[in-house]
Amino acid sequence: MNPFIELGIRHDIVNAISELGFENPTPIQEQSIPVLLTGSNDFVGLAQTGTGKTAAFGLPLLELLDFEENHPQALVLCPTRELCLQITNDIKNYAKQMNNVHVVAVYGGASISDQLRQIKRGVQIVVATPGRMLDIINRKAIDFSQVKFVVLDEADEMLNMGFQEDIDNILSTTPDEKKTWLFSATMPTEVRRIAKKYMNEPFELTMGTKNTGNANIEHEYYIVRARDKYAAFKRIVDFNPDIFGIVFCRTKIETQDIAEALIKDGYNADSLHGDLSQQQRDKVMKRYRERNLQLLIATDVAARGIDVNDVTHVINYSLPDEVENYTHRSGRTARAGKTGVSIAIVNAKELGKIRQIERVIGKKFIKAEIPTGFDVCEKQLFSIVHKVHNVTVNEEQIEQYLPRIIEEFKDMTKEDFIKRFASIEFNRFLDYYENAPDLNAGVEEGRRDRDDRGERGERAPGGKSAFTRLFINLGSVDEFNRGDLLGYICNTTKISGRTVGKIDVKGVYSFFEVQNEDVEKVMTSYKDIEFKGRPVRIEISGEGTSDNRGGGERREGSYRGGERREGGGGYRGGERREGGGGYRGGERREGGGERSSNGGGFRDFSGKRREDRQGQDRPERRRRF
Ligand code: AMP
Repeated sequence: MNPFIELGIRHDIVNAISELGFENPTPIQEQSIPVLLTGSNDFVGLAQTGTGKTAAFGLPLLELLDFEENHPQALVLCPTRELCLQITNDIKNYAKQMNNVHVVAVYGGASISDQLRQIKRGVQIVVATPGRMLDIINRKAIDFSQVKFVVLDEADEMLNMGFQEDIDNILSTTPDEKKTWLFSATMPTEVRRIAKKYMNEPFELTMGTKNTGNANIEHEYYIVRARDKYAAFKRIVDFNPDIFGIVFCRTKIETQDIAEALIKDGYNADSLHGDLSQQQRDKVMKRYRERNLQLLIATDVAARGIDVNDVTHVINYSLPDEVENYTHRSGRTARAGKTGVSIAIVNAKELGKIRQIERVIGKKFIKAEIPTGFDVCEKQLFSIVHKVHNVTVNEEQIEQYLPRIIEEFKDMTKEDFIKRFASIEFNRFLDYYENAPDLNAGVEEGRRDRDDRGERGERAPGGKSAFTRLFINLGSVDEFNRGDLLGYICNTTKISGRTVGKIDVKGVYSFFEVQNEDVEKVMTSYKDIEFKGRPVRIEISGEGTSDNRGGGERREGSYRGGERREGGGGYRGGERREGGGGYRGGERREGGGERSSNGGGFRDFSGKRREDRQGQDRPERRRRF
């Protein structure tokens, strides 16, 4: 039997959600739907965005309301216009095979008369942002006297944005006996207070630990000097050729500066912030959603409610002012059961903030190293190779040109041909990254580096390194990230993850540190072990541990002496960082072009509308660093 039927959802709804690809309920749906279907409980669900919350409350609403009646029976309040439209759309999709279901989206920044007209025609479910909802209530244009259910979605965000009073006023127009269902990603005291005020012994459901982030997110931080921040950021982006990311900045000016610099440097990026008109924001979001943008540079306020699946990376170019905002930022990745990485680029003085965030999310960050120029080139090379390997060939179209192409290459060996093909893009990176400096904050952070690693394993007394750095012939091309590799090592060797030191995942190989006394155990454990049919090879690295490294990385050394010479010319120290230069390869170039056709459009300072309050900064009441 379909598992949604088992939960008590009727066939016509199950058919509709099957079409959306919902085969099995997500954990929150599995646990909340049976409770909410009784219709007799208040409910508090602590869950991140992207966990399937909308269906968790949307499906029970469709079961519980009487759609023969045309008056408001359910009110869903949410913090942003984007989320409001998303929820409305989702509920309509779930109800596709039902008759007479009317859902209206009520939000600021759009024509109120249109919304009033829809309400007048008769609706059962109102999905609204608080500002506009109150506006409509004040016009006496809606009657909530028969509302049976109120859903407060992303309650922490609504309070964060200062909607407490509006929510109070809206709820006072609904009957006392209604049931209230509250969903929140975090549970600060303000949300607790709201739960207490409006609910009667609510059923509480916590997915994961309170206030923790999504378990599928790996958190990493990089320590760089302030002056190297932009270059380091670009290097992280270059090291992740398939990145589809959201980059968070603290201010509107910073988002614009970063986006402009990126575009100038040939990246496919744009900015999203509160000074854009709604129309401009929609346009940027549309491009991002459709993947015509690779990097979205956003402020916290503008990015609220962004619901885009498959975001691979969230990058905290600047850490948020409030600790809790980190959870909201990182929650934009790893949606719908996917995995994702949340990166913080910090200077040494901000390490304390990282520790504070760790306490809030209940998870440790991994200290990562800014990739070397060589790492980036290698990664890009294999990305090109994979792309060539997997490209879909349009046989019909290419056929007519084949004889000429074959003629052109007739004197070339297969190997030569492959080399040249791969070099087309690879050379750009070689040029750019030749002599690229190490961007990891050095000397003054040395002490902190040691402290960090100390969390994973104690150093030997007397300051001598207790770790040995090992080489393993597996890396990112085998789809390992640091977390995966740590898990793989611990599973095979049965040593504790806490005793593993720094892990450096490269392209076709990686390095990891283990305590000296574990070296033999690790080497023995990997004897005769294969990974996808390949023998796994572990060697003691000639470089020593990161403590006593000093002489630069082995691979860099060999690189300098070898291939890199072919690259020639190119990058001149750090100057290119801020300036025009930079990489202008492949897809990214398109971004620059598009932006110029955008003109100065999105600098239009027109966001003064009252009803668009979710786009404005609200008074702050959250924990600050
Ligand atoms: P939400 O947390 O409601 O924003 O959902 C996040 C994403 O997960 C949306 O794209 C949903 O369409 C998708 N989703 C929700 N429930 C399921 C399910 N049971 N199976 C597959 N996808 C789902």
